[in-house]
Amino acid sequence: MASNKFKRMLNRELSHLSEMSRSGNQVSEYISSTFMDKQNEVEIPSPTLKDKSMSHITGVRKLCHSSSLSSSSMPRFGVNTDHEDELAKELEDLDKWSFNIFSLAEFSNNRPLSCIMYTIFQERELLKTFRIPVDTFVTYVMTLEDHYHGNIPYHNSLHAADVTQSTHVLLSTPALDAVFTDLEILAALFAAAIHDVDHPGVSNQFLINTNSELALMYNDESVLENHHLAVGFKLLHQEHCDIFQNLNKRQRQSLRKLVIDLVLATDMSKHMTLLADLKTMVETKKVTSSGVLLLDHYNERIQVLRNMVHCADLSNPTKALPLYRQWTERIMEEFFRQGDKERERGMEISAMCDKHTASVEKSQVGFIDYIVHPLWETWADLVHPDAQELLDTLEENREWYLSTMPQSPSPPP
Ligand code: AMP
Ligand code: MG
Ligand code: ZN
Repeated sequence: MASNKFKRMLNRELSHLSEMSRSGNQVSEYISSTFMDKQNEVEIPSPTLKDKSMSHITGVRKLCHSSSLSSSSMPRFGVNTDHEDELAKELEDLDKWSFNIFSLAEFSNNRPLSCIMYTIFQERELLKTFRIPVDTFVTYVMTLEDHYHGNIPYHNSLHAADVTQSTHVLLSTPALDAVFTDLEILAALFAAAIHDVDHPGVSNQFLINTNSELALMYNDESVLENHHLAVGFKLLHQEHCDIFQNLNKRQRQSLRKLVIDLVLATDMSKHMTLLADLKTMVETKKVTSSGVLLLDHYNERIQVLRNMVHCADLSNPTKALPLYRQWTERIMEEFFRQGDKERERGMEISAMCDKHTASVEKSQVGFIDYIVHPLWETWADLVHPDAQELLDTLEENREWYLSTMPQSPSPPP
């Protein structure tokens, strides 16, 4: 479907939603400002430059994990824990959509990303295939995990672990059986793991509007996503961290190109374009006699991977309700903290970030109706019938949020 036609249709629906009520207006504003690629129209106050060198990547810290590790003393799941049996039990569900990442965090000594990466890479034999030394691997993933901010409610290493595990499940969907090369699988999992590293808990627009160092560094374009990539790759240069040391030059180049593409595609302002392209792909899809997708060209495969990681990033509402509700609480808390910062600075408060006026339930229904459902419905068409169950969960979850929505006072007769 032509991308412009699709965007016009959505615009029409959003303006209708925004005319219905004040909270409808706020939801509509959140969707168009977050998920549509529009020109930055804000007036930017003159920048207050600090004399700081741009030659280094901010946020990268020296941390030491390597001395305590050796391949002979490696814990069973890559992390030290007193709950190895409980961890083993949780990890039995590693390949399922119903996996409980919150329990994993609890039993892994709050190292969900290190633990999930270690277990997935072992299960998929990626350490063997790419000759990644196990101690280097653990040093890297622990260092990566340390560069997620533990004090941020949503964009911490638990979200990265969740997106990585979700990507792992989507990679194994029957319709994509044997479609991807080992290098593509490695790239997708690595991209998911680094995709939000060093996230400061505020949006791209906030960073741009406040003339932050990061916005300056990346010229206002996909500021966070560029930064996540730079940090994720830079950490490979730390001592005992180069997990790609045994890849040849060509492999390293292709991997880097793929990962950059996948993480840049997690910028939500690219969502509509990504979805329009996915719809076109569904309209022209070809499958083998056994129902596996035929993706002969590199461009087609990378397009599916882009959408896969993007789907994993937008998968909260497709998970079991108790999990989904915890994610919603976390993201709203993060939005409200950004709103508080905006209020303190006398800035206009971003949509959904005002704790005094935001309607959590309404925003989730709007988020599902305009963003998550159209995306997952298209994904489900692509891999039909593999994603039917999670589409059902998504629809049930929508009904639940709809039913808990506080009723607006009825208009006078
Ligand atoms: P990322 O920030 O890279 O994790 O991209 C996901 C973005 O999608 C978030 O920043 C939110 O803008 C949006 N999002 C994800 N999950 C939710 C949710 N449950 N409710 C509202 N917005 C969400
Ligand atoms: Mg992100
Ligand atoms: Zn994310």
